[in-house]
Amino acid sequence: MTIIYNKVALIGLGLIASSMGHGMKREGIAGKVIGYSKTKKTRDASLALGFVDAAVDNIVSAIEDADLIVLCVPVGAMSEVAKEIGPRLKLGATITDVGSVKQSVIEMISPHIPDGVYFVPGHPLAGTEHSGPASGFADLFKNRWCILTPAVDVKKSACEKLQKYWEALGANVEFMDAEHHDLVLAVTSHAPHLIAYTMVGVADDLSRVTDKEVINFSAAGFRDFTRIAASDPTMWRDVFLNNKEATLEILGRFTEELFDLQRAIRRGDGDQLFDYFSRTRAIRRGIIDAGQDTDAANFGRGDGSDEQ
Ligand code: NAP
Repeated sequence: MTIIYNKVALIGLGLIASSMGHGMKREGIAGKVIGYSKTKKTRDASLALGFVDAAVDNIVSAIEDADLIVLCVPVGAMSEVAKEIGPRLKLGATITDVGSVKQSVIEMISPHIPDGVYFVPGHPLAGTEHSGPASGFADLFKNRWCILTPAVDVKKSACEKLQKYWEALGANVEFMDAEHHDLVLAVTSHAPHLIAYTMVGVADDLSRVTDKEVINFSAAGFRDFTRIAASDPTMWRDVFLNNKEATLEILGRFTEELFDLQRAIRRGDGDQLFDYFSRTRAIRRGIIDAGQDTDAANFGRGDGSDEQ
């Protein structure tokens, strides 16, 4: 593979950044990868793992002369980071982010982007419940979607180059309007995470009463919930605070359907339950047919990968 960007700056060195770093190294698509983290332990681990060529504690020196700057910090930290680096970005550089919410992140970053720098927001739909520099792996993005949500007037060649970069990391790229992204993700990821957090919380209350039965007899469905509910608290707090409207809209619909199913159980309406479950089973088949999960008994998550 040939070099796509001469110098890439990874701002934040957690799961997503480390996976990108490993991927860039393996594919040989970056001349040099510089990482920034404020924490020494993170910088030392990143260097030792070898997914960056240098790890610095000075954000300005990290982005100096960088052709691609990737903001890999929690959504709530995007604004302060963009403010600090905005005035120092190289003319002609591309800046992107990997935040799980797009509209509010765009509002946070855009005001700090100078003319002549191209801002192409992004979101790889790939992740695990693990965090930090040691959790990344080069195949995280393989056959996963990466959604790019640039404004309509952003230079086309900058968007195409970033698309090529993500494709080299193994992802499939889709361009989308930021508002639409936030609604789609509220359905496919944000609301399900909140439901998993709630379900595990409820079970935890129950387990106090039943002397850890919930853990001992944890069946596959519940175990899957616990894995999702182990996701990073900072990341998910920021997701809900920043995708408020779409998440509340979907949770409203969810609650209505839940009440409907609750009534069906109370009435003993087996037909309604059977029809509903048949419809949802077909959706599951559609996901497998689209190559976004496998039929394995472990819910296809033997590799720990997930879409977030
Ligand atoms: P992570 O493993 O927790 O790493 C976060 C990194 O951000 C750490 O290096 C941390 O630095 C740094 N950081 C935190 N607050 C900061 C601040 N105020 N200023 C500067 N650096 C800061 O997180 P991640 O899972 O890679 O997630 C990063 C981004 O990717 C988030 O925006 C998230 O929404 C998005 N995303 C995550 C997933 C997923 O499944 N995890 C999937 C898709 C997209 P220190 O080490 O110095 O504390």
